[in-house]
Formats: sequence, C-alpha cells, structure tokens
Amino acid sequence: MSKRKVLVIGAGSAGRYAARQAARLGAEVTLASPPPFGGLCILSGCMPSKALLRSAHVYHFIRTGLSDLGLSLDTSTLRADISAMVSMKDAMIEEMAESAHLSVTNNPDIRFLPVEARFLSENSAKVGDETLFFDRAVVATGSIPRIPPIPGLSREWLWTSDDVLQCRSLPRSVVVMGAGPIGLELGQYLAMLGVDVEVVEILHPWSRSLDPRLADGYLEAIRKSGLPIHLGMTVQRFETIQGRALLHASTREGASRQFDADRVLFATGRQAAIQGLDLDAAKVRLTHAGAVSVDPYLRTSNPRIFAAGDVTGQLPVLNLATYHGEMAGTNAVLDKPLLVEERAVPVSIFTEPEFARVGLTESEARERAIPVLTGYLPFSELGRAIVNRQTDGALKITASAATREILGAEMFGAGAADLIHLMGVAISLRATIDSYQRILHIHPTMAEIVRYVIDEMTGAL
Ligand SMILES: Cc1cc2nc3c(=O)[nH]c(=O)nc-3n(C[C@H](O)[C@H](O)[C@H](O)COP(=O)(O)OP(=O)(O)OC[C@H]3O[C@@H](n4cnc5c(N)ncnc54)[C@H](O)[C@@H]3O)c2cc1C
Repeated sequence: MSKRKVLVIGAGSAGRYAARQAARLGAEVTLASPPPFGGLCILSGCMPSKALLRSAHVYHFIRTGLSDLGLSLDTSTLRADISAMVSMKDAMIEEMAESAHLSVTNNPDIRFLPVEARFLSENSAKVGDETLFFDRAVVATGSIPRIPPIPGLSREWLWTSDDVLQCRSLPRSVVVMGAGPIGLELGQYLAMLGVDVEVVEILHPWSRSLDPRLADGYLEAIRKSGLPIHLGMTVQRFETIQGRALLHASTREGASRQFDADRVLFATGRQAAIQGLDLDAAKVRLTHAGAVSVDPYLRTSNPRIFAAGDVTGQLPVLNLATYHGEMAGTNAVLDKPLLVEERAVPVSIFTEPEFARVGLTESEARERAIPVLTGYLPFSELGRAIVNRQTDGALKITASAATREILGAEMFGAGAADLIHLMGVAISLRATIDSYQRILHIHPTMAEIVRYVIDEMTGAL
C-alpha cells in the first residue's frame, strides 16, 4: 500500500509535532517553512522573553529585595548591560533553534524544505518552486501581532514584542497597550530595568472569570513592583510630536486622559498568519476573527486539510500548539480521525509574582450550572512563603459540590507557574478533594498551599 502523502506548512512547535507524529504513523511527510527556523516560541516568544525576564527579575531583586532577607549590598555599581543580556539571549535561542532544526533534518521520515508554501487547489500546493500533490495537509503557520487600527499610528514609535526582545538601548518611556501576558511580562521587564512604563488596558475588570480577590491582589502586586496599570482605558487616537507618541484615551466614565511616551508597545493580541497561503484556493474557511476555522478533529472546511496552533485562533500558548500539532499529525494519517479532547489547559503569566490558572474558575463553573465548593488561602498564611518573605499570593480551588472532583485552580505568587501543575495533574486524573487530601506534602514548601486549601474544603482543618 502506498504511503499517505502529508504536507505540513510551518515548522514552529505545532508544525514540528505534526510532522513528527505523521512520520511516526508511517506517512510520507514534507515539512515546509522558510528561514529563520525555530518558530515563535524559540525565536521571539516564550524562550527569549523568559531569558530576558530572568535577568530583569534578578536585577530588581538585588536592588530592592535583599534587605527583606537581612542582607545589604552597595548596589551603586550594579548595572544592567542590556546589550550583553540580548547577546546572551540570542546565543541561547540560536542553540535552541539549531537543536530543533536537527530534530527535523535528522529524521529520515521527514523531507524538510526551507521554503514557503501556498495552496494551488484543494489537494495541491506550490512549495518553493515545486508543485506538490498531497493526500492530507496541516496548516501550522502561527500568528502575527494584532495592531488595532487606531487613527494616528506611526512606525516611528510603534513597538511589538519583537522590538522589545531585540532592543539593546532602552527608551526612557513606554506605554504598553494591553495587560495580557505579553503586555505585563514585557512591561515589567522594561520597568524593572528603569524604563518609565505605564500599562493601559481597555478591560475593567481585568478578568471577569477570576475571583476578584485574586485578580485584584495580583494586579496590586504587579503595581507594587513598579508597573502602573490603568484599567478601563480606551485609546482613541495618537499624535506624533517630535518622534514621540501622544495617546488620547478615555475612561469608561467618559473622562479623557493623555499619555506620552517614546514608544508604544502593542500587546493587543495576535492574529492568524495566513497571508500568502491562498486558503481560498484550498477551500479552507476562516472564522469571523480571521483565523482558520477547525472542527473538534482539527479539520478545516476542506476535510483533507487540518490546522494546528496559533493559526486556529484558539488560546495562543505553547502547550496547546504542541498538543494540537500531535493530534493534527495523527488525524492527517488515520482514516477515522480522533476527537481532540478538551483538556484543562494550564496558563501562566511569568511576572514577579507569577500568575497561573488551570481548568474552571468558580464563575465559569457556575455559568455551566455546576454547583461548586471552593477554598481560598493567601500566601501570608503559608509557612514557607512567610520564611521566604514571599507572601504576595493566593490560591483558590474550585471543585464540584456533587462529585467533589477538582475542577480548577487559580493563583498568583512565587512559583505559581510550577505549582499550578499539582492541580493540572489532579484535574487530569479526575482527583476529588478527598483523594487529594490523602497526598502527603513536604513541609515546609510552597506546594503545601494546595494541601491547606484542600484541607479547608474537606473540613480537615
Ligand atoms: C513575546 C511572547 C511570549 C510568549 N510566551 C509564551 C509562554 O511563556 N508560554 C506559552 O505557552 N506561550 C507563549 N507564547 C505563545 C507561543 O509562543 C505560541 O503560542 C506558539 O509558539 C505558537 O506555535 P505555532 O506552531 O502555532 O506557531 P509558530 O511557532 O509561529 O510557527 C509558525 C511557523 O510557520 C512558518 N510559516 C508562516 N507562513 C508560512 C508559509 N506560507 N509557508 C511555510 N511556512 C510558513 C513561520 O515561519 C513559523 O516558523 C508567547 C508569545 C509571544 C509573542
């Protein structure tokens, strides 16, 4: 029997997982992606941002956090060498990209072509100069920053996350538009290195689905770290004055407010990268928001073509992109596709302190008419947090009142992005608060916060 021919377009995280999985299942796989190799996570997303944030957090901690531990240091000579930080980050991502490249080129079952692909019809594509007929295709072309069309935009001061990650000489002032993960992380990065940063966010409250105690506590901790955040603020138009931006904004109540800055960082979301793919030729339909529309099997409107990762317009996070990639690669080969399970996707904001959540919040459970039990504890009541002097934080757990199954958790505080996995595992294994209550935790650890909240919920406290 001849092998199924699978074309994967885009060699970011979703595309590499799709290609590897389709090859493992015996397909003849072509993976097309133009240079530079690596995809968003390695080249200008998760990895470079976390590398630079680590330097900024350490710098900030040395300047402001030592006295809490009874330590003192003359920090007058401490200097953040931004150019050195960016060079170190560049060297690190070059190595990561190289290793990802080798994982593809060393795979004898994947033919990698460093070129763009464009659909010609429902079962063919132009891949570089080659016309390629496929049995199945996976679109995994990722996303690009979304810049809302506000009057007065100018390239003179407009910044995206890419510009921040490449910047070797910081401006004096920056307004960040958007208090999502990218805005808060990069805003804090700049602020901790001494840039005068303000964040403006159209939403108020910041999140309707979170417990307000938790959302407010998190934003307060971020503000305390030196990053002012203005909620409920809509930017109406810009002016450019001597190369700088003047933002004309208004509050929900209609009051006007102006901000001026050397740069404006647009952290206003991302949109599917579909330019040049000619999806019309392949009869692949888009959602209203312009992303590739997929069904629960990750199949597009053309049943031969699947899509995975950011291009689907779903939650733009790495864990979902790789899961999607694996499933799209599987479904591209199987005769009967597998349903992509709705999983509890853990997400995080890597600020200081961190924010993380997984599964359902109380309000989301109530919207689904699920009666709930909840538990909540601030880090100020956790021994390890007290001795570490890291008491900014809180954890809330939501469980089903009927089955006592753990449904979700939301938290902020030191180590939240790691701690949330305890709850991710519990949800995946369908643990109840009673079964979790039997798990021993090391004392004194930050992880004990979970056990204390569960104790409260089961009445063991
Ligand atoms: C600043 C920043 C920080 C982030 N931090 C985190 C984080 O901490 N944690 C997290 O989970 N997520 C984070 N993300 C999001 C995460 O990086 C993405 O969700 C994920 O990398 C998307 O993977 P993907 O495979 O869908 O797309 P990509 O990795 O973007 O891959 C798409 C690939 O397709 C190629 N391509 C495009 N068009 C064509 C074409 N016509 N033909 C062939 N190839 C094409 C592109 O060149 C690219 O290589 C961050 C994002 C940003 C911007």
